[in-house]
Amino acid sequence: MIGLGSLGLGGDPDRPTCSSAACRAAASWRVNWRNPRIHTADRVKVWLACDEHRSSLSDYLATRGFPVLVSALDEPVDAVPDAATSAGAGS
Ligand SMILES: [Zn+2]
Repeated sequence: MIGLGSLGLGGDPDRPTCSSAACRAAASWRVNWRNPRIHTADRVKVWLACDEHRSSLSDYLATRGFPVLVSALDEPVDAVPDAATSAGAGS
């Protein structure tokens, strides 16, 4: 379990919401990522995403050259491998 306080938009803690700006939809996905310049390989940052913003959030990170790995909301990942940059792939 991770702390969602820094991710939320002031909403109900029992209802994780999408991390996309101005989106209040319920999150269904974890966009796991890290910045290889400042994060070690075992560091995982997580954005939450609704169905609509899953690809836009992962694409946003991927275009910056960050490793991105999308997983289901109830499937936390331990690490984001460098090779996992093929964002936008279907489930
Ligand atoms: Zn959204």
